[in-house]
Amino acid sequence: MKTVGGNASSTHGCGIEERILARIDQGRPGPTFLAQGAIHGNEPAGVEALRRVVARIERDGLEVHGRIVACIGNLQALDQGRRFLERDLNRQWLPGSLARLDGRDPTLDTAEDTEQRALLKLYGELEASRSGPLVFLDLHTSSADGPPFTCMADTIPNRRIADTIPVPMILGLEECIDGAVMEWFNQRGQIGIAVEGGRHDAPETIDNLEAAVWLALDHAGVIAHGAVDLAPYHDRLLRAGQGTPHLIEIRHRQAITPQDRFVMVPGYVSFQPVTKAELLAHDVAGEVRAGEDGYVLLPLYQGQGEDGFFLGRRVPRFWFALSAWLRRLRLGDHVHWLPGVRRDPDDPNTLLANPRVTRFLLVQVFHLFGFRRERPRPNGLQAFSRRLAAPEAWTVRPRR
Ligand SMILES: [Zn+2]
Repeated sequence: MKTVGGNASSTHGCGIEERILARIDQGRPGPTFLAQGAIHGNEPAGVEALRRVVARIERDGLEVHGRIVACIGNLQALDQGRRFLERDLNRQWLPGSLARLDGRDPTLDTAEDTEQRALLKLYGELEASRSGPLVFLDLHTSSADGPPFTCMADTIPNRRIADTIPVPMILGLEECIDGAVMEWFNQRGQIGIAVEGGRHDAPETIDNLEAAVWLALDHAGVIAHGAVDLAPYHDRLLRAGQGTPHLIEIRHRQAITPQDRFVMVPGYVSFQPVTKAELLAHDVAGEVRAGEDGYVLLPLYQGQGEDGFFLGRRVPRFWFALSAWLRRLRLGDHVHWLPGVRRDPDDPNTLLANPRVTRFLLVQVFHLFGFRRERPRPNGLQAFSRRLAAPEAWTVRPRR
């Protein structure tokens, strides 16, 4: 473990400290910036990127405002170079799974149970001791080639931090993947985004992730503006993302299980345009074809995983400005007046929509107003919940 400056804590037990690459707290007020690599153990590039950032902070004696915590997500899987040992550690951050974990005898823990307990303890400790906003950055890589991108729940503070990282932005991934840790932070009202750096073992992937961390640190105000020359980092990411749409909304997730014997057609890369009915994969039932025109994302070319691929669609840039304006006016408070929409009697933050009445642009309208799409209800109604967003004031620094 490496620490820099004052106020560094020492022993915490429960597997927390082994996973901490650095805790940097020089006693100045500011945000808590938590950056994590390798929640998937076969993605070591994020850990390497964090090591580089920490080394430079030390070497250059950089001033840190607030604190930086760099950590490893799935320590045991990282040791073995596998995505996970028993279960995907980035899929079980749901109230039900967490309650079950909490109620279980720790001596019966699987590898990922132990990991999750340690992470929960670390996150809880940071949340409880923070004096400013908590910014969470989750670093990933993928099995296929493709440019780096960010993904996040669509809240204004998340957007602002993602906007400083000049790569494509993916919305709606968290609505198709249940239980990602980034979404756990978002649901608690914290700022949290994920960065995909590129192919697992491509050398430039580490460079991409490192660049993203520096830009996010600067945006959060943790590193004083001007202390680090950001231009090379900015330019690197801009080049890496060139030719790809700026903003993509996920429309389809190809959920798979080992029984499906899913095999992706070779040669796909993230952000490759596809046309309706194009053959993308084979599984036990036969051919898997694209349901509509769009872009393929995260095609699976490794053994482990529950997502065969995703399909996304380009979202026009003005949509961002429009939805920021609508949210500022709090027009989302009135969405239940739309035909076919009513409040969930059991949950004031959830609206239920009858897809037969509101078919036209249903999901898009709710997204504009900042709602999150939930799983459809058994009666066929589509549920949308209001996001618990970090206060806008938490966007630590206006964009330059
Ligand atoms: Zn990952």
